[in-house]
Amino acid sequence: MAEKVSLIGLDRPALKAALVEAGIPQKQANMRTGQLWNWLYVHGAPEFAQMSNLAKDFRALLEERFTLARPQIVTAQVSQDGTRKWLLKTGPGIEFETVYIPEEDRGTLCVSSQVGCTLTCKFCHTGTQKLVRNLTPAEILAQLFIARDALEDWPSTRQDRKVTNVVMMGMGEPLYNFDNVKAALAVVTDGGALALSKRRVTLSTAGVVPMIPRAGAEIGSGLAISLHAVRDALRDVIVPINKKYPIAELLQACRDYPGASNARRITFEYVMLKGVNDSLADAKELVRLVRGIPAKINLIPFNPWPGAPYECSDWAQIEKFAEIVNRAGYASPVRTPRGRDIMAACGQLKSESVKERASARMAREQSAHLARMPH
Ligand code: SAH
Repeated sequence: MAEKVSLIGLDRPALKAALVEAGIPQKQANMRTGQLWNWLYVHGAPEFAQMSNLAKDFRALLEERFTLARPQIVTAQVSQDGTRKWLLKTGPGIEFETVYIPEEDRGTLCVSSQVGCTLTCKFCHTGTQKLVRNLTPAEILAQLFIARDALEDWPSTRQDRKVTNVVMMGMGEPLYNFDNVKAALAVVTDGGALALSKRRVTLSTAGVVPMIPRAGAEIGSGLAISLHAVRDALRDVIVPINKKYPIAELLQACRDYPGASNARRITFEYVMLKGVNDSLADAKELVRLVRGIPAKINLIPFNPWPGAPYECSDWAQIEKFAEIVNRAGYASPVRTPRGRDIMAACGQLKSESVKERASARMAREQSAHLARMPH
């Protein structure tokens, strides 16, 4: 029997196509798609049986052909500070993490876009893991489903919802998985689906400059830039993508970012690395560089991981650095680390997944095939 198709992650046209393909007459397809869309993305229904306003035979057809199954939860952890982290699995070696950060006025879900990463930023744990593969739109969206399920945060339209913001700041570089991230965020921001406003969605990039205008035009979320250094010589080392797209080009893309305004500032992330990028001269250069760009500056105390080549700046130094940034007009820029005890803080995510070599995969598939053959 053919495997059931997962509906989570389909956009409207794909959902309609799946229904037509399953035998729903064209005439009914739009209405059925609308009903199912609502159950799927507003109510997060885990079972077709719950979809009380759908005809019995339609439900039976759905049951037979499709699934609403979530990815497997490998681990679910809760930090002392209330931060939660889930390690999810969608196939052999396909494991990725998502983190929920509750704050007084909001709840932010930090979503992964890739298993592993190609960027090799020196201070980032994910950067030590090779890219396994891009996540699909379904896998990106499933992270919201897992969090909303666990937090009992359905329907998505409730007033007191717990997941109020989404940041593409988990594992991977979202602008290297543009199409899938765009498709997933379209469902996240669809008013009839997960219904988060684009202002509550932020995409963070290490600086894939050619994709920044497309992100602005086609996704339209908030933008965050992992700057981390103010001189190319240092940024080349700690954020190696800088060798391709140096600071001046990156900042120009920010100046040109559509919709950037005082109401919608671009966030500049700056990790505080002791003795590396935390001098007061660096702070002054930072505010000089971003001058003229509607900007927020987030100073992120470095979060350590086993074997990391850096230390977090001393608190006194962070305060002095922050004071210069503050005096330049950027309010309270130091981010409190969250979820460090469960390795859920910025840059601590890493899964054990490793890229399987094509030859090993073929051998595995061959032996599975042989095992299924009648003897
Ligand atoms: N690839 C994207 C998305 C990752 S976002 C990007 O680079 O923006 C994760 C954020 O955490 C980035 O700003 C990243 O530079 C930062 N980060 C990585 N490792 C960190 C660490 N050990 N401590 C603090 N921040 C870190």
